[in-house]
Amino acid sequence: MTDTALPPSDWPRFDPGWVWLCGAGPGDPGLLTLHALNALRQADVVVYDALVTEAILDWAPQAERIYAGKRGGKPSAKQRDISMRLVELSRAGKRVLRLKGGDPFVFGRGGEEAQTLVQHGVRIRIIPGISAGIGGLAYAGIPVTHRDVNQAVTFVTGHDQSGESPSSLDWSAISRGSQVIVIYMGMKHIAQISAALLDAGRPASEPVAVVCTATTPGQQVLESTLGRIVTDIEQSGLEPPAIICVGRSVLMRQALDWQSQAAGEPVRNDDPLNRGPAARIA
Ligand code: SAH
Repeated sequence: MTDTALPPSDWPRFDPGWVWLCGAGPGDPGLLTLHALNALRQADVVVYDALVTEAILDWAPQAERIYAGKRGGKPSAKQRDISMRLVELSRAGKRVLRLKGGDPFVFGRGGEEAQTLVQHGVRIRIIPGISAGIGGLAYAGIPVTHRDVNQAVTFVTGHDQSGESPSSLDWSAISRGSQVIVIYMGMKHIAQISAALLDAGRPASEPVAVVCTATTPGQQVLESTLGRIVTDIEQSGLEPPAIICVGRSVLMRQALDWQSQAAGEPVRNDDPLNRGPAARIA
């Protein structure tokens, strides 16, 4: 189905000179919002990131495409160039769609871009998207909150501002405060991160999942534990982009891995948290 008509509604008009900062979701084009689709249909130019699925750009055939990719915490000077490019395009009277992977305000520096635009007098609209740390886990069958597991979830980045190490985070506080920890950009520093969590008292047996290129046809999921994760990642050869989830909600995948089930595999365990028969009717 290639028809991308929007359902009838009072969709906002994209006026020339505006920049719409928009989340493209984690990968699967079906996870775009209708506001994103409305934006794609009207944009004159789409400035997009490395993590935006290219097929999504085909929904804006009229638009010029500008790639603003940036991977792995590279120098921030580039970020300034991107923001200024958006200002220039807006001043040229374009309808500028700034498309970012996931949600633009989740570890995507969307706030900085938006602020630069506002400081230059550019009119903006923000369109949220499904963040990889929520939607990506859902595609892997992992509920980011689950009543029997966590009342809190912490989203952390595995890179600090320099892009070099996660040392600026208080891992001990995070570890105590949050039963489930969802780590973005964590692959490079997984050895330090897992060591910090073990030091903070999290058990070596704690379940960990790594979800790579989540929600795309190439999605790969590794199930491991805090004690084994470094070795298991090395042996698996898995590469970023990946979301790493630490916590017992990972066990729920044994019941909720809907993609494997759709492919004909049996449910591994319909009560992975050992709640007993009550769990089946509650
Ligand atoms: N704004 C984005 C995050 C940008 S930071 C969002 O809300 O999702 C980039 C990091 O996001 C990657 O290093 C990875 O940790 C995560 N990520 C983004 N897309 C992903 C995907 N499809 N699968 C796994 N991780 C992803």
